Amino acid sequence: MVNITWAERKSPVLSSSSLACLAHIPGINLTSGCAHDCIYCYAHGYSAFPGTNNVIIYENILEKLKNELTRKRNKPRAVYFSPSSDIFQPVPEVLELSHSVLEFLLSRDIGIAFLTKGYIPDKTLKLLLNNADKVRAQIGIITPDENVRKMFEPNAANIQVRLEQMEKIAAGGIAVEARLVPILPGITDTPDSIERLCAAISDTGIKHAAISALFLRPAITATLRKHIIDKEILDSLLSLYKDKKRLAVHAEHSSIIPLPREKRDEMYSHFMEIGKKYGIEMSICGCMNPDIGGICNITGKWTETVLQPGLFH
Ligand code: SF4
Repeated sequence: MVNITWAERKSPVLSSSSLACLAHIPGINLTSGCAHDCIYCYAHGYSAFPGTNNVIIYENILEKLKNELTRKRNKPRAVYFSPSSDIFQPVPEVLELSHSVLEFLLSRDIGIAFLTKGYIPDKTLKLLLNNADKVRAQIGIITPDENVRKMFEPNAANIQVRLEQMEKIAAGGIAVEARLVPILPGITDTPDSIERLCAAISDTGIKHAAISALFLRPAITATLRKHIIDKEILDSLLSLYKDKKRLAVHAEHSSIIPLPREKRDEMYSHFMEIGKKYGIEMSICGCMNPDIGGICNITGKWTETVLQPGLFH
């Protein structure tokens, strides 16, 4: 059961990010916390994280957004919805607010980019499809296995729902990419899991996917320890990160405990090889793998004058 709290947003609604793939357009956060409660969620380490099962909804976000855009001399060509709080969480109040904000932005001819692991309500999907040339979507999907999904993403949409949405979004002309992040070493990087996931994605018509391995921070490790009841799975996962050597990320603003470089190289090669077989081009998330490079481009590609459908790279 999720606890909902309403709060006034004091700071500006449109914000900029230090992440390379988010830096070129402003972002919006409609909530603090996310009802999907994925147990690997990197937002668990944020100082503003309200705790598992808690979601704070910013009640004045639409009004503030309208005011900010009225004052701006140049309106942004697009905005992205922050990946640290899904806009399609299974909370009616959040879904209504998301719809209103999307509707407003699209009515002002401002493009939108979002990443979701949630169920998109029909009326919002229709709105997005009616504005396909102004939308960039990423659908998070890490496994073809419902048991793994339930363990790691307890409140997110089930795999079948996500695949069906991916198919509708791709068929409707929205530029859409699958986001296979985080890859859980020893769990979702087995040849069988990658094959089945790539086959399912390929059937939806999607041709691009972003990849990056699970990284740890103390708060993420603590959440994994709390929620993975099978000790064998937990120990085997955490043992892969035991050298605890940190890697500076986000333009050196923060650091993570990564999977060792050689293991990530091997893992990414497998994904790329199998992806190729299914006609899926894989991109490594450069923000979380600065030692390897790459760019996964969460916001999609926006040109100054034309919003071209089907462009992610
Ligand atoms: S959907 Fe994204 S923001 Fe929400 S809990 Fe999962 S990883 Fe975190």
